Amino acid sequence: MTPTNDGDAGQIRKAKAVPPFESRRGRFDRVKVAETALCGMGVFATAPVKKGRAVGRVLGERKPEGFRSDYCVEFDGGALEPFAPYRFLNHSCDPNCEFIEWQIDDQSLPQEEGSERKPICELWVHALRDIQIGEELTVDYGWDWRAAIPCKCGSPNCRGWICKPEDIELCKARYAEEESNIVPRSEPPQ
Ligand SMILES: [Zn+2]
Repeated sequence: MTPTNDGDAGQIRKAKAVPPFESRRGRFDRVKVAETALCGMGVFATAPVKKGRAVGRVLGERKPEGFRSDYCVEFDGGALEPFAPYRFLNHSCDPNCEFIEWQIDDQSLPQEEGSERKPICELWVHALRDIQIGEELTVDYGWDWRAAIPCKCGSPNCRGWICKPEDIELCKARYAEEESNIVPRSEPPQ
């Protein structure tokens, strides 16, 4: 994963259901972490994944809201510092995976009388399209424009910035402003 995520939530889709794949755990996480050509470490498929299927569950350390790190994902009112392998998921503007936050209302859990039932939240990686063996898995980080950094994902539809698609004009405007603030060296100091 590329650094300077300002701890932003990104594009996490929320789903309310019991994941249909709990009993097939052995079929998940068929991935490996390996060096990429341009982006440091990345996550690669070691088995084909069908569109829409779960790739695996993101496990990690829960952190308080507002926690910042290079890898953390905002999630369920706090943040998750992912463990390997999904810690190393790189960004692409044309991703083949997405994060889905599953909110599972487990009726079998004990509940305090009068209190509101809190769903269990799990963060999963799902395939947005069919993925072949050896393909690098990517997600759209979709950072807040204030945390955006230039993108070098190389996809034909690259936005140029790692930011939410709807924030791209804000990113460009900020960049233009920074450029115009650069004083040429030859100019005498004021
Ligand atoms: Zn890009």
